[in-house]
Amino acid sequence: MSSLPIVAPFDGWCSSLDEVPDSVFAGRMLGDGLAIDPTSGILTAPCAGEIITLPASAHAVSIRTPHGIELLIHVGIDTVHLAGRGFEARVRPGAKVRAGDELIRFDLDVVARGAKSLMTPIVVMPLDGLELRQRRAPGLVSAGELLFEIAGIAHLANIANVANIANVADAAAGLPSRSAQPPAATAGHVLIVTLRQGLHARPAALLAQRAKSFGAQATLAAHGRTANARSVVAIMALGVRQGDELTIQASGADAAEAVASLVAGIQEALRMESAAGHGAAARTDPTARTDPAAPINGSAPVSQAAPVTGEAPVSGVVPNRFPAGVLGGVIAAAGLAVGRATRIERREIDVTEHGMGPAHERAELEQARTHVRARLERVAETGGATRREIIAAHLEFLDDPQVNEPAQELIAAGKSAGFAWRAAIRRSIVALEALDDSRMRERADDLLDVESHVLLALAGEARPMILPLPERAVLIADDLLPSELTALDPQRLLAICLGGGGATSHVAILAAAMEIPMLVGLGAGIRAVANGTTVIVDADGGTLQWAPTAAAIEQAEAAVESRLEHRAKTQAEAQIECRALDGTRIEVFANLGNVLDAAAAVANGAEGCGLLRTEFLFIDRETAPDEAEQLAAYQGIAAALGPKPLILRLMDVGGDKPLRYLPLPAEENPALGLRGVRTALARPDLLRAQLRAALRVQPFGRVRLLIPMITDVAEVLAVRGVINELLAELALPGPIELGAMIETPAAALTASVLIREVDFLSIGSNDLTQYTLAMDRGHPQLAGRTDALHPAVLKLVAEAASAGVAAGKMVAVCGGAAADRFAVPLLLGLGVRELSVVPAAVPAVKQQVRALRIADCRELALRCLDLASAAEVRALIAPTLGPVGDTR
Ligand code: PEP
Ligand code: MG
Repeated sequence: MSSLPIVAPFDGWCSSLDEVPDSVFAGRMLGDGLAIDPTSGILTAPCAGEIITLPASAHAVSIRTPHGIELLIHVGIDTVHLAGRGFEARVRPGAKVRAGDELIRFDLDVVARGAKSLMTPIVVMPLDGLELRQRRAPGLVSAGELLFEIAGIAHLANIANVANIANVADAAAGLPSRSAQPPAATAGHVLIVTLRQGLHARPAALLAQRAKSFGAQATLAAHGRTANARSVVAIMALGVRQGDELTIQASGADAAEAVASLVAGIQEALRMESAAGHGAAARTDPTARTDPAAPINGSAPVSQAAPVTGEAPVSGVVPNRFPAGVLGGVIAAAGLAVGRATRIERREIDVTEHGMGPAHERAELEQARTHVRARLERVAETGGATRREIIAAHLEFLDDPQVNEPAQELIAAGKSAGFAWRAAIRRSIVALEALDDSRMRERADDLLDVESHVLLALAGEARPMILPLPERAVLIADDLLPSELTALDPQRLLAICLGGGGATSHVAILAAAMEIPMLVGLGAGIRAVANGTTVIVDADGGTLQWAPTAAAIEQAEAAVESRLEHRAKTQAEAQIECRALDGTRIEVFANLGNVLDAAAAVANGAEGCGLLRTEFLFIDRETAPDEAEQLAAYQGIAAALGPKPLILRLMDVGGDKPLRYLPLPAEENPALGLRGVRTALARPDLLRAQLRAALRVQPFGRVRLLIPMITDVAEVLAVRGVINELLAELALPGPIELGAMIETPAAALTASVLIREVDFLSIGSNDLTQYTLAMDRGHPQLAGRTDALHPAVLKLVAEAASAGVAAGKMVAVCGGAAADRFAVPLLLGLGVRELSVVPAAVPAVKQQVRALRIADCRELALRCLDLASAAEVRALIAPTLGPVGDTR
């Protein structure tokens, strides 16, 4: 037989995939085929084969024929959000079926009401040499009638040699190649995964990072499936849950080391999970309760996805059994809010199918990924540990071989970079959506987020860093991506209500970290909520009142008011000036990237801004901001800080911080090239404009200036010279406080000279670590080793801090180490007296400092200086730390 007939799985109206209201299917990104609008609710097998995937939600099924060809049938569009409502699986994955066997039953009415469309694509996953023939013309079709034939299977007929064929299907399901040569050296380890959330995105990212640092090919296997350990997507697609057995294997010269490192990675993920006082780990703690006196913006993490009816929910989505005007949903972040419904709609990004040649498209994709990587790294630095971890997973997706390899193949086949990227991402999403695990399915949103970042970059656009919102907004949407949430003004955003979504999605975790009440799974009814109406979000009880009475609004507002009072009392403690246990004054400042951060910093009790990353303010601009624009931005931030000091860092451009409006010549080694003050001195026009704006901020003297990437005192003197000229030009009284960043070993080792020419030092531990250890701070494979607690880095910190102490001048730390609770006692012990951290970390850092005695810190720090590695330092400090959340 040289062709394989595929028959209709149910009765209905047959049409071309072009008619499917989903660009992924209509664009043939998952493969070619036909669609049927069903008129019966019994889905039967379109051919003989093995059921490869049939998730608990039973909205889709994939079958592999004996030839290794894989077909996907996706009942309706956006039906994954129904979470099984209206569907019933009639077979299990692994079952061998014949054409016509019953696979799924579904309730046409329920699915039609809850889905975007009933149109059901039946597609053949792409495979070289296959062709669809005898396609049925549009019109009525009955179950069992021919839809099309798959021709070109003759060369697949050698079943004994199906490895290559199966590899293609496996790639979509997250499996590695089966044709690998027998390994030179192999190692293996079997363990039971005890992570509460299983191998979800963040531990998967951790493992993939480790796997990439070895030459050996490592795989993880569970449930009879195998994944390339370098691919986060493939690891997640294994669907490993708590209690599952996991087999780690590697082959290659360093196989044993690779396996040991992956086992250690799982242990590290466990430590992170138990150390974390935030995020997903806390959510599944069955003892965690929603505090009835929870603060207004619901900081209390919720136990499980709590349904609001007594019935068992299907994957967290509950049927709506509430009076008119009330929708029931799942609590993703607890709290109570009364505000104005604010709808946001996402714009679909168009991509053209055909490219302008593989070389051009490859270069475009590479450039877009580089741009997105830089942007994500910037965004990661504007939030706390939760945000950083989630963005670390997104960065892994960006480089994931399971996404990049198929994308490159499609580009080689003549597709555009955008088409190829979207198709590759969507294939991975199909693999995740097929899992019987709602948490893994929720990670599809992360992939969509990464997809849209890259597509926007390819289109030359960028998602704005800040999306405008009206006052007192309650966001109403079908779904929300993590990057969309981080771009919303948290001061104006009172609550989030989603029709779909999941309680353990990354966007939910971020909302809880931002203390924004959030309900998900409110269903299609949410589309009836009119923009601008007053709504009550009870994210303790799990309801959205979208047509409340005046009395209900009044009552809810009173409840909000009393929670606010409670919250203010709690926050007041964070507002008290910070002293160590022995009374030593330690200033806890905040790092800011924009005016929203400034407001958050004040609310969290920051005593000033220790680092305003001015390059963030205009990161997505095509043209350089002029003096007036800069002045307005700086003045706005100064105003938001009230009387608190503002340390404004001069633009730190170049290296890992490219700016669109300031294209720099390509450099072989940008991290060692024109960056920081070197760029500023090379572009005196830009430096002067920035300095003039900074000097004009009112009242004069509030702003202190900080120079990045100092290597020697001549750079300080050059900047000081320009400042003096401008002070005279602007007829300002002067002097203005000037500081130098200690980010290079050269600056640290000559700190005693630098300190004579500046008023303070600020240690940028991120770059200092990078340049001391000669490890790229953004390198995914080195992420676990670029640790500021390496004794070499600590010795340089000690050098800089003692220069400051001797000169009686302030030494601060404004890099990530300042919020690392392992590092805090050491920094204080070495003489640092100001810590500048992300706004959200301020209360925890203050709390930690208040319990420390400087003499003890000094003793501990001196012992650490003599240790051999960051791991040894951490091991020495660990027993001295209390069980508070990791503030890194
Ligand atoms: C640092 O290098 O530690 C620092 C604070 O500067 P940035 O992270 O902006 O490079
Ligand atoms: Mg730096």
